[in-house]
Amino acid sequence: MSEIVGFIGLGIMGRGMTRNLLKAGFETYVWNRTAERMNPLIAEGAKAADSPQDLAAHCDIIITCVSDTPDVEQVILGEDGVIHGAKAGSLVIDMSTISPQSTKAIAEKLNERGIHMLDAPISGGSEGAEKGTLSIMVGGDAEQVQRAMPYFEAMGKRITHVGAQGAGQMVKLVNQILVVINMLAVSEALVFAQAGGLDLRKTLEAVEAGAAGSWMLSNRGPQCIERDWRPGFTIDLQQKDLRLALDAGKQLGVPLLGTGMVSAFYDALQRDGLGSEGNHALIKALERLTGIEVGD
Ligand code: NAP
Repeated sequence: MSEIVGFIGLGIMGRGMTRNLLKAGFETYVWNRTAERMNPLIAEGAKAADSPQDLAAHCDIIITCVSDTPDVEQVILGEDGVIHGAKAGSLVIDMSTISPQSTKAIAEKLNERGIHMLDAPISGGSEGAEKGTLSIMVGGDAEQVQRAMPYFEAMGKRITHVGAQGAGQMVKLVNQILVVINMLAVSEALVFAQAGGLDLRKTLEAVEAGAAGSWMLSNRGPQCIERDWRPGFTIDLQQKDLRLALDAGKQLGVPLLGTGMVSAFYDALQRDGLGSEGNHALIKALERLTGIEVGD
């Protein structure tokens, strides 16, 4: 028999992930800080909890997907937090992207009470969350990873156990370095193509199946051409991840030159009030430098 699952944080990612747990037939509790965001999922069969603590008291597996490190600390360790409701033996799975160091500290506090924890950050954007095709990078104990597998399989396609507690978050930062430098390449290439008078859609069609192809190119390239800046992932959250990567790079003595440059571009866009646009709006920084605007 499957265990009862609870989901905390019904944002862009959490709502699609919860929907996929419901579709897979799992009994699912939900809690979200802004309560009305729970309504569509309650209509689809989820049960509402009054607080993270209340949710944890009803569930065996407690999943969190909130914004940043202090937010995860708040919903897990804070007043009314998961730690005050969870039974010994239950499993907390944090799917947010947060600091690898803080992840280990949170896990220690939970472990002291006999509560297990996995860090399982995700990649694949809002599309992946909706379609259940996320990549999930998991850190923690192998036995708990096996326990969580049916839930991971409902939400994701590639599930990789990458190491001990905290390793999932480290791999996620590797992922973010790749994503933003890729987006810089897409931006630079599109501005260049526009300046050269090319048909941008034909250009994408010609290059995306070859060695230059990438998820960012195929998914965010067309959005840039259509000047559709709706976020799959906001610049504000992207900057949060780059801060985590740059901090870790500093600790490890690895200068992240490309990542630092992209972060400086995003800083400028945030100062212009564009923090809630999608991370593909990086191209606007290059448009401003060159005076060339992409699009039909
Ligand atoms: P989002 O749409 O901004 O949603 C954030 C969620 O966190 C909301 O449910 C929000 O509640 C909740 N939250 C934030 N601070 C909180 C606090 N202090 N206490 C309680 N709840 C809090 O973000 P998202 O895009 O779903 O991202 C969630 C996590 O997944 C982030 O760590 C992000 O880096 C990661 N991620 C996102 C993507 C993506 O493409 N979007 C991809 C991979 C990973 P309210 O509704 O009350 O604001």
